[in-house]
Amino acid sequence: MAKGNINVSVENIFPLIKKFLYSDHEIFLRELISNATDATLKLKHLTSIGEASVEYGNPQIEVKIDKDGKKLHIIDQGLGMTADEVEKYINQVAFSGAEEFLDKYKDSAKDSGIIGHFGLGFYSAFMVAEKVEIITKSYKDEPAAHWTCDGSPEFTLETADKTARGTEIILHIADDSTEFLEEARISELLLKYNKFMPIPIKFGTKEVNDPDFTPKTTTDKDGKETTEPHKQITVDNIINNPNPAWTKLPTDLEATDYNNFYRELYPMQFEEPLFHIHLNVDYPFNLTGILYFPKMTNDLNIQKDKIQLYQNQVYVTDNVEGIVPEFLTMLRGVIDSPDIPLNVSRSYLQADGAVKKISSYITRKVADKLKSLFNNNREDFEKKWDDIKIVIEYGMLSEDKFFDKADAFALYPTVDGKYFTYDELFNAIKAKQTDKDGKLVILYASNQDAQHSYIEAAKAKGYEVLLLDSPIVSHLMQKLESSKENITFARVDADHVDNLIKTDDAKISKLSEDQKGALEDLLKEVIPQEKFSVQLEAMDSDASPFMITQPEFMRRMKE
Ligand code: ADP
Ligand code: MG
Repeated sequence: MAKGNINVSVENIFPLIKKFLYSDHEIFLRELISNATDATLKLKHLTSIGEASVEYGNPQIEVKIDKDGKKLHIIDQGLGMTADEVEKYINQVAFSGAEEFLDKYKDSAKDSGIIGHFGLGFYSAFMVAEKVEIITKSYKDEPAAHWTCDGSPEFTLETADKTARGTEIILHIADDSTEFLEEARISELLLKYNKFMPIPIKFGTKEVNDPDFTPKTTTDKDGKETTEPHKQITVDNIINNPNPAWTKLPTDLEATDYNNFYRELYPMQFEEPLFHIHLNVDYPFNLTGILYFPKMTNDLNIQKDKIQLYQNQVYVTDNVEGIVPEFLTMLRGVIDSPDIPLNVSRSYLQADGAVKKISSYITRKVADKLKSLFNNNREDFEKKWDDIKIVIEYGMLSEDKFFDKADAFALYPTVDGKYFTYDELFNAIKAKQTDKDGKLVILYASNQDAQHSYIEAAKAKGYEVLLLDSPIVSHLMQKLESSKENITFARVDADHVDNLIKTDDAKISKLSEDQKGALEDLLKEVIPQEKFSVQLEAMDSDASPFMITQPEFMRRMKE
């Protein structure tokens, strides 16, 4: 038997990283800005606990394109690295300095928002660059270091004359990746991944009105007013909002703050959200976020993929399937959790214990919020019902736990514009709408105009008729029939009203046979027989002594 070590050569690793580490090359920028952010947050932490005696100041991160030199620069004012630290953190692939930092400072750094953890992010630079340089000056009193590597396992490390604290990463963009030298492309990436990162990110400059300048208005002798042009000044173009609403406490936010944040997330969305749910939990997992109920359309599919997932304010994806139950993917907003495993398959996510807990926490919060809206302002809840019912009904169908909670606030509107909860409906109709076997018969219409005469007939009998017209309501009725005891739904035009609820009372016609015959002859003369049928069975209401209906098959013939 032969034994030995498999020889893994670093030479083989770079091409692998380049090809397979991330399927999406564009995420290199997210990784490098995450590292720059971490470096800044680490310095913030060290100064706050007195381990670094330097001025923290107002550090920012800068992204700069040098199109002629085919270079992209990412510059931070964070804690920097000494030459030894470059050897340790950069030259060791898959050794994470972020994890080491969190380990070392444990409790005190738990909420520092440090992003990195795999120790691979930096090398994603080689997906787009043929050569990478690091020029870095530590906050410690040591000379700056200059590291250069062309993607082979060989690197050079020498001293540099950088005096400002922090790190500059220079990517020499490869010929197949020149898109990353385009301002529009970088701008797009910054807005996608970094829009809410915690350290200000500068990308170029922009012209704005000088806030200290008030344009003078002068009136000439004819009374004509002229206002001088506003003075423009050049300021840093900061692409991100470092303090997005979800990172704040609900008690520090007003309703307008939530609406403004919605606008920030969805600049192209003109409708106001109906209401929001602020998520905030730190045990047994860490999660913050804000979910919004948008106005719904009946098309379930176009609404999907609108919740954005973040980790420590870094955008990850807008596909949250598996993390929230399917029916909530119709909501919008943000979920931020460092506890959601990334870059793993959907089926794994669904099986993961932590993710399951997150999903049921979110479901519970949504149900609680709906319940409190219902309890606190029922009138408003009823007004919103049409816009939110699809999510609630879908949720009741797909999640039993949600069904149990929603049963208290799910509404069943009637053709008269009343809204019943299930229990209210039950109490309102149990006396009249119970058949001879004790079964509760819930009458419903799906189209108020087409079923008008049937609805009137049922109302005349004192029955309540629900108006159920959402696309999934037939499934919900089945669900209710199976989870509530002894009930059945009957469509109001399924049969003659007297047959819908079978009671023992014999029907007594108000018309005699002779009267019926005479009336039938008369009506047949004036009503086209091929289109309508005439029913003369007694109606309770004196207003409708008979009914003219259009049978289903005749209705279809028209189409
Ligand atoms: P991770 O971020 O998961 O720790 P990376 O491969 O992204 O792994 O980075 C490796 C390490 O290199 C970091 O943990 C950090 O110690 C160091 N590093 C990378 N970029 C910087 C930077 N801009 N400033 C200071 N240190 C950095
Ligand atoms: Mg990293």
